Amino acid sequence: MTSSHASSVFSALAPYGWDDAWADEFAPYDTEGLLPGRVIRVDRGQCDVVTAGGVLRADTAFVTPHDPLRVVCTGDWVAVEPGGTPRYVRTCLPRRTAFVRSTSSKRSEGQILAANVDHAIVAVSLAAELDLGRIERFLALAWESGAQPLVVLTKADLVPDPVTRAHLVQDVELSAPGVTVLPVSALHGDGLDLLVTTVSGGTSVLLGQSGAGKSTLANALVGADVMDVQATRDADGKGRHTTTTRNLLALPGGGVLIDTPGLRGVGLWDAETGVGQVFSEIEELARRCRFHDCAHEAEPGCAVLAAIESGALAERRLDSYRKLVRENQRIVAKTDARLRAELRKDWKRRGAEGKAAMEAKRGRRR
Ligand code: GDP
Ligand code: ZN
Repeated sequence: MTSSHASSVFSALAPYGWDDAWADEFAPYDTEGLLPGRVIRVDRGQCDVVTAGGVLRADTAFVTPHDPLRVVCTGDWVAVEPGGTPRYVRTCLPRRTAFVRSTSSKRSEGQILAANVDHAIVAVSLAAELDLGRIERFLALAWESGAQPLVVLTKADLVPDPVTRAHLVQDVELSAPGVTVLPVSALHGDGLDLLVTTVSGGTSVLLGQSGAGKSTLANALVGADVMDVQATRDADGKGRHTTTTRNLLALPGGGVLIDTPGLRGVGLWDAETGVGQVFSEIEELARRCRFHDCAHEAEPGCAVLAAIESGALAERRLDSYRKLVRENQRIVAKTDARLRAELRKDWKRRGAEGKAAMEAKRGRRR
């Protein structure tokens, strides 16, 4: 790439998350005359790719093997042909992170939902009683993807008392080691600036139950009503079938938002490592149990039970941990172990590389 060409590609694609590490990864394809771009939507064998020259429609037949996890998905960086009918996506750059739905009722294969996500925002409504078990479940899914989770407690305006609000934040923090918990009111704008700053540094997805306030948050981040809020109805009163043409958007405050129906409905997951990260304090304690295979039931010298006894660990956390480990084992039993192991190895490594690149970039900015 000539340096002026490279810098124009850089400035056009940087809002979509292009960085030096992606440019390095893409270099061999540049030599072949292919164009770099990010997939903003996939649709039965076709995808929309945002490139320096605009959005192109391309055919994915070239890069769609039988493995469902290797299928091009929203968030992928790809190399597309500069022309041709059809124009083909020639390759998909190795993913840094990926969200996978590991099972469906019919098939045991995984399904890839979104790629190259840095922040997984778990939206939790303060309008209802906190369900910590559900939060832990979403966090396991978030960690498993390789993204950094963030909990946003939405509708904070409904808890105006600062002491009550602080207690709720603390309850969630205790269930979310290593995760920032941010109360936000889309209505009053409280906490939004912090959220805007966080998401400006990478690609984000919104997870959470229906009604948690995801669309409202998305609208607040995007600054326009591009995502439909649940209450929207057609003139005939039936729920509107919303097809957002872009599942990936560059945000005005910086950063990228991916919002797909698949991610919204995500329920099952294969999150062995993720579960461990959600309950890191329990895994930490377990290392100090006398027996390495301690089940923390009634064994002597059990550090986990001792922590419950002393009040350092809530019994609810241990129950929830057990439940999620069991649930995960059931799912794992139904999925193809080889495929999962291969996949995990792949993007955990890429994830580490990507993070190192991001840190290097941040270091350079300072
Ligand atoms: P989604 O299903 O997760 O996308 O949730 P929506 O964004 O559609 O929000 C569900 C409901 O919560 C809607 O009626 C919103 O108006 C309401 N809501 C969302 N954010 C806030 C907020 O900050 N404060 C209040 N009071 N209501 C909110
Ligand atoms: Zn133990």
